[in-house]
Order: sequence, then structure tokens, then C-alpha cells
Amino acid sequence: MNKIRPELEELLFSSLENVLVESVAATDIVVRIEALSTARQATSPGCGYLSGRIHGSYPRFPHDLPTAGKPVVVALRVRRFVCAEGSCSRKTFAEQVPGLTRRFGRRTERLRSTLISIGLALAGRAGPRMTDVFGAPVSRNTLLRLIASLPDPPVTTPRAVGVESTAVRCPTGQGLSGQRE
Ligand SMILES: [Zn+2]
Repeated sequence: MNKIRPELEELLFSSLENVLVESVAATDIVVRIEALSTARQATSPGCGYLSGRIHGSYPRFPHDLPTAGKPVVVALRVRRFVCAEGSCSRKTFAEQVPGLTRRFGRRTERLRSTLISIGLALAGRAGPRMTDVFGAPVSRNTLLRLIASLPDPPVTTPRAVGVESTAVRCPTGQGLSGQRE
């Protein structure tokens, strides 16, 4: 196992730092990746204090992108850290592993963003059907909730718009024909 572990980490979590893959096991219905966070410190979400004092650990089970037609669950051991900043309301806090966990999140970031893309492209009934096909079934309400959690796009104030500067649609329906000068 030790020999293939670096290859597994590269394959599964190539873009993530501080994640150690311990094992990968596949049953008939699910692929389970055992992993743990190895970051030495974590930042308190209450005050920004960087703590290295571990209070305890516990498992989280974020769902990941399916592989080989099976759902994937990451059994990820994360830690609670002690916040030593006296004025902070949090005495302890859970670490988040960028890319794998977010507060109260049940999915890895890559599964989350894939589901959001499906929700945006295929709203209504087609979205849940598509998630079913690709092995990470979620309800329409979940897709809508994920989309609603996206940050608002930045508001830009349009400059003065005149008839002169509006784009016109090409009569053949091929798209925009350009801008009038
Ligand atoms: Zn704090």
C-alpha cells in the first residue's frame, strides 16, 4: 500500500494539499476513500487566529464525484482545534480542508460544482435525471439550493446606452452581427 499511496493521492486529490490517502476500497455499490487531513494548523473562523493545538478529531463523509459508475464517499478524518484568542466566541473550531469540506457541506467541492453546473444547464426535471445517470443522484430541490448558495454576480453599472452602440441580431439567426459604429 505504501508504494501506491503517493500515486493514489496524485490520482484522487492531485490539486489538494495536506490530505493523506490511507486506503481505497470498492464494494458492489460504493467506493470508499479513507483519508485524513495533515495540516499542522488551522484558522479560526471566528477571529482568524492560527491554531496548532488539536482538541480532538472526528470523521466526515463528504460525497465525491462518482468513479467507474459508483458513488464515491471520502471517509475523512478532520480535527478540532483550540482557539486561544480570549475574545473569540469559539473555544474550539473544526478545520476545513479546502476542496474537500466546507462548513455543513456534505459534498466535495468538485462534486458540488458539477451539480451546480448541471442545475444551471438543466433546470427543472432534467437536472435530477442527469445526476441520476451520472451516479450522484440529488433532488431538484437540492440543485436549486446549490444554485441559490452561489454568490451574487457583481453588479456593474452600465455606461450610457444609445441606439448607436447596441448590437443587432443577424437576420440569418447566426448570432450577433457586430456593433454599429
Ligand atoms: Zn477564534
